[in-house]
Order: sequence, then C-alpha cells, then structure tokens
Amino acid sequence: MTMTAKQWLQRIRELPLTGKVRIMNVCGGHERSITMAGLRGALPDNIELIPGPGCPVCICPEEDIFEAIQIALHEPVILVAFGDMLRVPVNVRKQDVRSLEQARAQGADIRPIASPMEAVQIARANPDAHVVFFAAGFETTTAPVAAMLEQGVPENLLLLLSGRLTWPAVAMLLDSGTPGFDALVAPGHVATVMGANEWRFVVDRHHIPSAIAGFSSESLLAAFYSVLRQHIEHKPFLDNCYPELVSNNGNQAAQRHLQHAMTVTDANWRGIGTIPCSGFSLSEKYKQHDARHIWPGYRDAARKRAGEMPPGCDCAQVVLGKIYPVECRLYGTACTPRSPIGPCMVSDEGACRIWWAGGARAKQTA
Ligand code: SF4
Repeated sequence: MTMTAKQWLQRIRELPLTGKVRIMNVCGGHERSITMAGLRGALPDNIELIPGPGCPVCICPEEDIFEAIQIALHEPVILVAFGDMLRVPVNVRKQDVRSLEQARAQGADIRPIASPMEAVQIARANPDAHVVFFAAGFETTTAPVAAMLEQGVPENLLLLLSGRLTWPAVAMLLDSGTPGFDALVAPGHVATVMGANEWRFVVDRHHIPSAIAGFSSESLLAAFYSVLRQHIEHKPFLDNCYPELVSNNGNQAAQRHLQHAMTVTDANWRGIGTIPCSGFSLSEKYKQHDARHIWPGYRDAARKRAGEMPPGCDCAQVVLGKIYPVECRLYGTACTPRSPIGPCMVSDEGACRIWWAGGARAKQTA
C-alpha cells in the first residue's frame, strides 16, 4: 500500500522517541525538497534534519575555480561550465577577477551549459578553438562526462575536471568520531548510478541507521520513519526507500564508463581539506583531453591557493553539517543570493541558498 505524506507524518509522530535524533542528508536535491515542503517544521521538535555535504559546487575547491578563471582569461579558449559555477567567488584582492562571471565581463569567452552534450556541440561548432569544459560535480555529473569521453569527443574539447565521490565525505565524518548525526539519509541520485551497496559501510562499520530516499515528500518521510525506527530498536540496516530507481549494484554501464575514463584520487574539498579517494581525475588514455596536461602552469599557481576561504565564510562548517546556514555570521547580512560570499549561497543545491529561498531570511540560531 502506498502511503501519503500525511500518513507518514502520523506514523513518525507516533514513534516512541525519547531524545533528540539528528538525521543528515547528503544531497542538495533532498535538502531542497525538505525545505520547500516544510518538512522540518512538520516533524516533532526532537528530530533534527541536518544538511550535509550534498552540493558539488559548494565543495569545489577554490583553486580549481581560480585555475578555470586563469585559463579563460589567458588562453584563447571557450570555457564552458554549469551555470551555477559562474557566480562562485574566489578569495582574491578586490581589484582582481573573482569569478568566472567577472572574467566573462572582462572579455573571456565563457558560456554556461546545462549538460555535457552542450560542451560537445560547442566544440563541434568551433573546430578552430579549444573548448574547455570545467566539469565539477559528484558521480551523477561525472558519469555522463565519462560516457561522453568513451563515446568519442572532438579533438578540440578539453576537460578541466573537478569530480568528487560523495561517500568518502560521509566516511570522513564518521571516522572523525564526532560525525554530528545519528542517522543518515543517503542520496537517491548517486545511489541510482553507484548502487545501494556503496552505502552499506555506514551500517556495517559504524552501526548508523541508514536509508536511501528519493525526492518526493513521501519517499523522504518513509526514509525518516525507517531510520527513526532503526534508531529506537537499535537495529540499524540500510533501507532502500527509492526502489523504483535504486538497485543494489546501480547502473553498471555508467560505472564501467567511470572506471575506463577516470582514476580515483585523493582530492581537496573547499574549506575542508584533502579527503582520501574522493576525487576523479582523467585516466592516462585521455591525457590529450586534459586541460591540466596542456596548461600545467595554471595548476601550479592554483595549488598555492589551496584551503583559502573568504574571511568570515562558514561554508565548510555548513557543508559538514556542523552549523545550520542561518548560524553563519554572514548569512543574510554580508552574504545574500544577490551578493554571495560563499558558494553555499550561489548554488541551487547549496544549503544557504535553499534556506534563503525557503524563507529563512534572518541570521539566527536554528
Ligand atoms: S551565509 Fe554565505 S558565507 Fe555563510 S556559509 Fe552561507 S554561503 Fe558561506
């Protein structure tokens, strides 16, 4: 029997919860659905819903954006990137170019795209130019990029890759000993590609109640109910509450493309630092399509910037679920969607932007 959101809420309210339970999600789509449907306010007060590392734009390291800006400004290229990325600022002197949008205003040929195929189309339409695709994203974005490479791309299409895997960030939080959450709602889109099995470590190694959710209120509430029940009964397991799209092993063809086109590497996360085995780089056979191979100098210059964040920016704390967006010192004052300081206020998947869009306008204690 399919249950409505109202019925799930009723079942959650009837659970014999005694203390506070903190449930983390690691997907910007989940956070958007939760906020826009008002699920936080509808749940009992002792259930906290914490947005975690679920926004690929927010964790894209500053040095990668800096590198993209420098290539766009100093090389005769067309640089394409997903639209959100254009407005993400880097921490440079006031008089310097601090975003791809500003680089475009200075004459760089920078174009927003919505899919990898658009990058291919632009490369085909401009055979005499290098087209650099600044591809930042999680597995759901990187798998189509890998498929695009495997299917064959024009010689003039180069990749500036900033791909990341989601689960290592959760593993890092759990391994820290102070994860800040009692239960996990795992990302439905990522699990569609990589499979439910990728998240079993949360239960097997850390005994944390877990469920994979889709994006409807019903699916999210079913996942909340599941992890709350697991928590009460002290019987954690991985519950797949998105079975219509998520299988245990995921999309095998997409994973093959990733294995052939990419290598998994240690990678830097903005404001967080290096997380082992959390990034993708292009495999050796695609070296001729790697912008970093063609222009290594910008990478070296960019690396010196690793870890820098704008003064006062708490994005790293928000991304790790250590504070709520409204607890950032700059939220709604110096940092708004019109004038963002950090990436979490730029991206549609950023928690600050989502909370702002959901009506949380004042800097406050959540
Ligand atoms: S309010 Fe702005 S500076 Fe603060 S965490 Fe959010 S995006 Fe970063």
